[in-house]
Amino acid sequence: MATAKIKIAARLRPRLGGELVDDSVKVEHPSNETGESSSSGSSGSIISVTNPRDPTQVFKFPFSSCYDQSATQEEIFQNDVQPMIDVVYSGVTVTIFAYGVTSSGKTHTMQGTKSDPGVIPRVIRAMFDKKSTIHEHKVSLLVSYMEIYKDEVYDLLVTRENAPKLPVRENDAGMVFVANLTSEPISSIEEFDVIYNRATKHRSVGSTNLNHASSRSHAVLTIEVRMSDPVADRSLIGKINLVDLAGSENNKLTGNDASRMAESSAINKSLSVLGQVVHALNQGASRIPYRNSKLTRILQDALGGSSVGLLICNLAPGIKFRQDTLNTLNFAVRTKNVENKPVINERDNRPAPKPHFAALAMQPPAPKPA
Ligand code: ADP
Ligand code: MG
Repeated sequence: MATAKIKIAARLRPRLGGELVDDSVKVEHPSNETGESSSSGSSGSIISVTNPRDPTQVFKFPFSSCYDQSATQEEIFQNDVQPMIDVVYSGVTVTIFAYGVTSSGKTHTMQGTKSDPGVIPRVIRAMFDKKSTIHEHKVSLLVSYMEIYKDEVYDLLVTRENAPKLPVRENDAGMVFVANLTSEPISSIEEFDVIYNRATKHRSVGSTNLNHASSRSHAVLTIEVRMSDPVADRSLIGKINLVDLAGSENNKLTGNDASRMAESSAINKSLSVLGQVVHALNQGASRIPYRNSKLTRILQDALGGSSVGLLICNLAPGIKFRQDTLNTLNFAVRTKNVENKPVINERDNRPAPKPHFAALAMQPPAPKPA
């Protein structure tokens, strides 16, 4: 398969009640003659941000998909996510990240609400729809769900109280996996919903402030499809990782409160390493610091590895968030140059020594850091 770049989508959320209107961050669609943002996600669209130091200057960020306030969950799914379902079913690992500061719309984009479902419920539906069209193989879907908080991994499918910290390990082939992570088979959307809703509650247990805790942790939901061909005695494994990243504002290394900075960097180590990894890849560095955080280790093959990636940059409107918006867009610009080489994960079902079931679920193909 050809080399694929990480695709970038940017989504500007609508103003929330009480937020002031201003024009400092805009989505432009130059191909549209009226200059109106009537159609979102059109190719060649641009996010424009006025320079905080010089309002006469405008920074322009072109991305293949730019969504304005009026973009719907359906539109984003159809344009950028639906095409990946076939990729997953071809045995490739796909990773979708939602990046942005707290309140920029990451969870809305990934999870959404009951009346306005986001990427996750739509992916589940599409995975089951596709499954129902396959008759020549035995197809099974499995779910795993972990939270990375202060650089420790927790299984969200088991109760959060006294949840053990899960070790990240590497097998002889250099494949990274989360040991003892639960992987539950799902046979229907309803079954997924029960598991997912229970797991989402686990995210809040033991925390006095749900929003606070969840904005400081990364949630990685993985749906795996196993297609076994009984005749050839082989199976094909495809995976989609859906990642709601911690708020990127914690990533700031500037500030005047030393203890706050130390806490911030500890909590959000994964996110700053994610930036370093992207940067190192972009520079063609000989050493990529994947190993410096759990997030980047676990998702190593989504970053310059063997999977297909989509980074959704969530942006909050207005001057208040302008510097955060610029930080997010600059991060995206660096990420755009990361090259992935998708590979198909095929497994021989015959004698091979059986890896631990849960471990198998998280094993990416062996990506070798440069
Ligand atoms: P984050 O997960 O990045 O902290 P949220 O997804 O919780 O941000 O979004 C913050 C608030 O903005 C929530 O109340 C959410 O419902 C609302 N919101 C975000 N994006 C949209 C959108 N595209 N349309 C409508 N409301 C949105
Ligand atoms: Mg959130």
